Amino acid sequence: MQPLDNFGHNENKDKDSNGDKLSLKSVIYSCGVHGNETAPIEICDALVTEILNESIIVKHRLMVQFANLPAMDIGQRFVSENMNRLFNGAHATSSENSVEAPRAALLEKLTLDFFARGPAQAQRYHYDLHTAIRAAKYPRFVVYPYLHGRPYNQEQISWLAGAGIQAILLSESPTTTYSYYSSNVCQAHAFTVELGKVKPFGKNNMQEFTQAKDFLFNLATTVDYKAPPVSIPVLYKIKQSIMRNFKNFTLHFSDDTPNFTTFKQGSVLASEYEDTKSESVEYTVQLDEEAIVFPNADVALGQRALLTLEAIQTDDILIE
Ligand code: ZN
Repeated sequence: MQPLDNFGHNENKDKDSNGDKLSLKSVIYSCGVHGNETAPIEICDALVTEILNESIIVKHRLMVQFANLPAMDIGQRFVSENMNRLFNGAHATSSENSVEAPRAALLEKLTLDFFARGPAQAQRYHYDLHTAIRAAKYPRFVVYPYLHGRPYNQEQISWLAGAGIQAILLSESPTTTYSYYSSNVCQAHAFTVELGKVKPFGKNNMQEFTQAKDFLFNLATTVDYKAPPVSIPVLYKIKQSIMRNFKNFTLHFSDDTPNFTTFKQGSVLASEYEDTKSESVEYTVQLDEEAIVFPNADVALGQRALLTLEAIQTDDILIE
């Protein structure tokens, strides 16, 4: 009798005919955390369809999650609230009627269980796939969750470059995003991946997503995945996180300003005031140049309305 691992597998069956050790990666692809971000949902649907048709063979433990199904049904970002502010336990303090909160709690549990049940030596990966609301100077970018001092991963940066990612935002604090949960709680290589612009189902030009789709398929179906050699993405760290505290909140640039547009030092980016009698608070650019990303004046009070970014070099951070 061979010892069984915790799947009930015979150890020798975890090797393919060449004797290569399989299942050394545990991989999660999640899509539709925002229900109207359709391109990643279509890519994951194609992947699952090909797996079920047996036209491709998965070489690793793979979980594909379709996150916010009710929001997908109505073609909206969310039903009750932004699901990507509900992870790391934030779902517990949400309203009782939230459609998204119990789902976020379930996804957390499934992700934790999936990684925990894998072989102890398995590398863990989670790519949470999105598309952005607005156009961008770099349409394909990722948010690298806060690592609490751990080094950034060289291999992951090269994989993401090979997937067509043009820019990497290094988060510098804990957040309630799904990728931070997987990174922090599950110690996975985890990223919020923005693959382009939001379009309705069936309206995406899938050629724009070829590199990302190839990456997601190849990683799942290749025993020892190697990224195509390309130059590394531009790196940014977050300079300011501007919150909306009051109802009267205004962004001082036009609605269609692309992500990563830069503004000169001293430019007013946003302002707000409590009521007509109170003085307005202004948020201005602090560096020679700062880039803006994820502006949204309509977020709920107390939530982030805008991030500003500072471009940095690889020498400025610890990469291993
Ligand atoms: Zn999204």
